[in-house]
Amino acid sequence: ATPLVTAVSTSIGAKRGLLIRNRSAFENARKLNAVVFDKTGTLTEGKFGITDIKAIDSSEDELLTMAYSVESNSEHPIAKGIVNEGKNRSLELKEVSHYQNLTGKGLQAEVEGKEIMVVSPGYMKSEKIEFDENHYEELAQQGKTVVFVLENHRLMGYIALSDIVRTTAKEAVETLRTMGIESIMLTGDNERVAAYVGEALKIDTVISEVLPQEKSEKIDELISKGKKVAMTGDGVNDAPSLAKADLGIAIGAGTDVAIETADIILVKSNPLDVVSIIKLSKATYKKMI
Ligand code: ADP
Ligand code: MG
Repeated sequence: ATPLVTAVSTSIGAKRGLLIRNRSAFENARKLNAVVFDKTGTLTEGKFGITDIKAIDSSEDELLTMAYSVESNSEHPIAKGIVNEGKNRSLELKEVSHYQNLTGKGLQAEVEGKEIMVVSPGYMKSEKIEFDENHYEELAQQGKTVVFVLENHRLMGYIALSDIVRTTAKEAVETLRTMGIESIMLTGDNERVAAYVGEALKIDTVISEVLPQEKSEKIDELISKGKKVAMTGDGVNDAPSLAKADLGIAIGAGTDVAIETADIILVKSNPLDVVSIIKLSKATYKKMI
C-alpha cells in the first residue's frame, strides 16, 4: 500500500505539472546533490532557426534543398530548423534513399545518385575534411550550432543555427546552487556552443561533445564518485542516462522514449520544476529517515 503522505504528494505534484511515475525515485529526490541537464531542448527551447548559410560552388537554395531533403527524415531539433527554412523558401523536397542516422554526428542519405551528408564539426575533424575554421569559430563563439553539408564527401557548404536559452533554466541553476546542489550540462553539441550556453546560465560544470552512447557512462562516473544524481533530458539519446540516474526527469515536450524511461515527467517542460520536485520530496519525507 502507498503511504498516505506519498499519495497526497503525488496528487499535489500532478496539479503542479509533475508527473511522478516512480515513487521510490521521488522519495530519494531529497538526497540529490547533482542535477545533470541535457542542453538542446532542456536548457534551451530546442527550437533552432537558421542564422547563417555559406554555400560553396552552389547557391544557398541548392545547398538548402539537399539539407532539407535529408533532414526531412529526422526528428532532431536541428532537422526541424532546416525543414522550416526549406518550407519557408518553398524548396523542392527531393527523393531520398539509403537514409542513415549517424548517431551524434549527423545524417547521411542518397539524393539523385549522390551521397549527401549533414554532419557535425567533430565529424569534419575526424574525417580531416577541410573547412574555414576561422569563420566556424566565429559562429560557434556566438553560440551557434554549425552543420556541414557534404556531397560525396566534398564540402557543399554549411549552415549555422541558433536556439533560445530558457530563462527558467538560469533560475533553476541559481536556485539549485542556493540548495547546495551542483548543476551539470551534458551535451553532444560542440565545446564552443556548450561553453556559450554554460556562461549564459552560469552553470557549474559543462561536459560537451559526448556521443549518445557515452552520455550514460558520464552518469555512471558521477554516481561512482558518490554523487546522488538526477538526469534531465528530452531526447532519444538521453533515455539510457535517464534510466541510469538516481532520478530520471523527462521534459514533457520531449520524445516518447525519454518520457517512457523517466521517473518523473515535467508536464510544463519547465526546468525550474526540477527544484519543485526536490522541495516536494523534502517536504513529503522530512519526517522519515
Ligand atoms: P544534444 O546532446 O545537445 O541533444 P545530440 O547528441 O542530439 O545533441 O547531437 C550532437 C550533434 O550531432 C549535434 O550538435 C549535431 O552536430 C549532430 N547532429 C545530430 N543530429 C543531427 C541532424 N539531424 N542533422 C545534423 N547534425 C546532427
Ligand atoms: Mg536534447
